[in-house]
Amino acid sequence: MDIFLTNNLTNKKERFVPRDNKNIGMYVCGPTVYDDPHIGNARPLVVFDILFKLLKNKFDNVSYVRNITDIDDKIIKSSREQKISTKELTDKVTKSFLEDCKYLNCENPTHQPKATEHIDLMIEMTNELIKKGFAYENNRHVYFEVKKFSDYGQLSNKKLEDLIAGSRVEISENKKNSEDFVLWKPSNKDEPFWDSPWGKGRPGWHLECSAMSKKFLGKEFDIHGGGIDLVFPHHENEIAQSRCANQTKVFANYWIHNAFITMSNEKMAKSQGNILKIKNFRKKISGQVIRLALMSAHYKQPLDWNNKLLDNCQSTLDKWYRVYSQDIKSIKLTDEILKPLYEDLNTPGYIANLHQLYEKANMGQNKELFLSACKFIGLLNENKEQWENYKKINASITVTDIESKIDLRNKARANKDYKEADRIRDDLLNKGVLIEDKDGKTLWKFK
Ligand SMILES: [Zn+2]
Repeated sequence: MDIFLTNNLTNKKERFVPRDNKNIGMYVCGPTVYDDPHIGNARPLVVFDILFKLLKNKFDNVSYVRNITDIDDKIIKSSREQKISTKELTDKVTKSFLEDCKYLNCENPTHQPKATEHIDLMIEMTNELIKKGFAYENNRHVYFEVKKFSDYGQLSNKKLEDLIAGSRVEISENKKNSEDFVLWKPSNKDEPFWDSPWGKGRPGWHLECSAMSKKFLGKEFDIHGGGIDLVFPHHENEIAQSRCANQTKVFANYWIHNAFITMSNEKMAKSQGNILKIKNFRKKISGQVIRLALMSAHYKQPLDWNNKLLDNCQSTLDKWYRVYSQDIKSIKLTDEILKPLYEDLNTPGYIANLHQLYEKANMGQNKELFLSACKFIGLLNENKEQWENYKKINASITVTDIESKIDLRNKARANKDYKEADRIRDDLLNKGVLIEDKDGKTLWKFK
């Protein structure tokens, strides 16, 4: 059976045909390690983990590369605010990110390169682009000259004349044209720097991925992935740099992007102030629940994150753990079972099948099949005891309980019964739940 994927380069669902059956390459943009990852960041981790598993099931040699961006303006800003070095900050956040990956039961990619360990390759690529006439230096900055690359805008369907400066594109008087983007920029005093032909400075973010994907996967490879917000300018710029520096017609053949996570239909993003950090879930909810919740919508669809979703996933797993058994051997899954995943990673379809397999397993039929199918997508990886332990922690209060107590408290406050409101707040605090009133809303988190 063939794998089908929605390719953003063509806007079509396409049969996946590898460049070389014996050598599959996938590059996914990893985190900029300036702050702990939130649930929105967790989605690509799980989506591409499933794609990695599926590719490995079909092909022998799959290389999955996910970078760590450990030099960036946001990192410099955040390290200043925290009064620590950029190295201290990026080490701390990288550690927390890797713990999150483990908590979500994501396999390690084949390579996890750090940007700061590949600066020489970025300088080399910048030199190459200048030599070939695609980039220019001005006042210690180096820019890519967008109009020199006629295919620019193909991925994001943008026309050159409509281009406006993207979120991470700096406005600068050093540029020839406003759409040009930075490859190299000088570092100010107290900022990390590397020596280059253009003075002490650092690479632009887009260049990092172009240089690292080339090192580990070559000039052309199969799949490039990331969140939908990376299409423009980041991925568009990666394509421009890589194709011009390497003089190829193709960079990656398939561009796969996952949709956002929303909360009350608003995108979850740090800039929106509505983020839920993954690490805050770790002590209270099993990573299995979070993982199942992240798989509950197709990756191309927005996923609304709410407590009801978590409650549903918790009770599904509770049920499934009833037939869990440690000594059952894993069996190889047939194409029929895996079919929804082969069809553009249809995780909700696969989960629907798991429900059916569970019904049979619960009556003593084909338990191995059910458990193997769960394990294939990274579920039921904890043993029963670990699962029960999480439940014990959770038993003191459920998410639904929390919400209804907050409702009661808000009613009490509306009735000016502040004594009752405070009593409810303290009660929640005793159960490990902190609440905060902000902009007319009550937010809560586990201590
Ligand atoms: Zn990237």
